[in-house]
Amino acid sequence: TAAVDVIGVSKSFEGPSGTVHALRNVSLTIAQNEFFTLLGPSGCGKTTLLRLIAGFETPGDGEIRLDGEAIGDRPPYRRMVNTVFQSYALFPHMTVGQNIGFGLQMRGAKSGEIRERVAEMLALVQLQGMEGRRPNQLSGGQQQRVALARALANHPKVLLLDEPLSALDFKLRKDMRLELKRLQRETGITFIFVTHDQEEALEMSDRVAVMSAGEVQQIAAPEEIYERPVNRFVADFIGETNFLEGQIEAYGGPVLTLPGGASLAIADDGGKAGRTVSVAIRPERAEVAKPGGEGLAGTVDTVVYFGTDTVYYLKLDGGEPFKVRVQNRDGARRAFASGDRIVVRVAPDAVQVLAD
Ligand code: ADP
Ligand code: MG
Repeated sequence: TAAVDVIGVSKSFEGPSGTVHALRNVSLTIAQNEFFTLLGPSGCGKTTLLRLIAGFETPGDGEIRLDGEAIGDRPPYRRMVNTVFQSYALFPHMTVGQNIGFGLQMRGAKSGEIRERVAEMLALVQLQGMEGRRPNQLSGGQQQRVALARALANHPKVLLLDEPLSALDFKLRKDMRLELKRLQRETGITFIFVTHDQEEALEMSDRVAVMSAGEVQQIAAPEEIYERPVNRFVADFIGETNFLEGQIEAYGGPVLTLPGGASLAIADDGGKAGRTVSVAIRPERAEVAKPGGEGLAGTVDTVVYFGTDTVYYLKLDGGEPFKVRVQNRDGARRAFASGDRIVVRVAPDAVQVLAD
């Protein structure tokens, strides 16, 4: 059975300026032991979905199941689900050990068992020897580890993490990504992680649900989200993308013809032969070459050097802007300069036809 089933869930709130549809008919299934991420811009409904799973809110419509069981009537403390928030919400007057053991104590666990479990949790989050400190004697990163240890101490089946890294500084945030991934692997607990940061989502997740305005746009593994975005929102929100519009025609294989007459062979027409479509092309999947031969002709606008790679900002002859990212090896950098005439070459399977 799945760890979590969200089935046709909708939720709206009455606000001062009318009804807010926070979630619209959201369905998703999260497997046991999965690192699952809800990714989307601020206000798209991520926290609302977590609060529904945790039991702090009830759905307006639809149903949520944990381990295959409907949980409509089960209060938060009987769901075996814990939450870690952006603000660590540690008890300031308690020691680290007391914070971590708090939930176990509330359940009436014996002091020996609590001590053992606290030690185990401290080792798990790499804070051995810190059980006697108070939260204000810890760095932000250490406080977040304590919050994680506290949330894991009573063996939840599912851990909900609501932007838990966003209060940390950049370097620490990057280290904590790997740390969270390790924690999930070692504990085998299902993690549902919320972020608006696409890098975080791609780096840590088994699967990602991309959300926008209360709706799920795409659910897939990171590679597929990045390589095969289904629509313009996903292609635009994740990474950098060139968008082109044109007509798909079949000459032997499918071909995209741009309004100016230039054309590109494509691998998959997305079932849209004969139609006008938008396509997405990642900047690193295209190449800049000397004029002549196959490709989209254009002119170099600006060249920007980024150390590991160089980005060419181009203008195609049809007027469309286009960006190509080249790795700086074998003297590839600055092979072309502003004003140079070029052609852009794109492998057929690098052209992704979008649904809208
Ligand atoms: P996210 O976590 O993705 O930023 P939220 O789930 O917090 O988004 O919010 C989704 C939408 O629902 C927003 O427009 C927000 O203002 C609204 N919302 C959330 N909770 C409430 C509430 N308790 N009352 C009124 N509106 C709410
Ligand atoms: Mg939120």
